[in-house]
Amino acid sequence: MRDRLLGLVPVLHPDFNERGEMFLGNYADLSGYSIGGFKIFELAGRDRAKAPIWRAMCQQCRQENIFAHAKLKSAAESKAAEQVLFCQNAACSRYRKPTVRDETLSDIRRAEREEQRQAELAAQRERDRAAQHAANEAALREEKKRYLRFANAQIRAGVMPEDENFLTFERWLKSSEHWRQEVLSRIRT
Ligand SMILES: [Zn+2]
Repeated sequence: MRDRLLGLVPVLHPDFNERGEMFLGNYADLSGYSIGGFKIFELAGRDRAKAPIWRAMCQQCRQENIFAHAKLKSAAESKAAEQVLFCQNAACSRYRKPTVRDETLSDIRRAEREEQRQAELAAQRERDRAAQHAANEAALREEKKRYLRFANAQIRAGVMPEDENFLTFERWLKSSEHWRQEVLSRIRT
């Protein structure tokens, strides 16, 4: 069970001060206390906000549970701590299916990773879109150069832009690439 929990909770190391004492800063040392049917035995680590995470044992089924400091604190301050703390062992009478409000640390991290992944995907899509747009613009500029050779040839041949037979850039774009290559190959520049 301990290994399973260690798999769920990112590897965290208790902090110690220079005298080798566990350093908790402004947080109360909860080790040794019993709160809401759980015996807290040691610091399991820190969350991202550097708040302690505690390893506790369910006094009902003896399974190890991990609780955030704030969770234990609110249980300790509650008149009904057993309504705040629940065992993570589904077979235990103290178990309650986690609700959104009791997200575990791993749920939070998973959500954070998913958020990060979505942000990266969105950024990648934006980069792809910008690159595609730039490529389209460059291709259009190249095509315009090719067209201008043809437009100038039309003018030299006496077909003026106001003439209805004058091939516009829009019509040039609609004509086949094969045809465009063919006419360009006949133009002496
Ligand atoms: Zn239990």
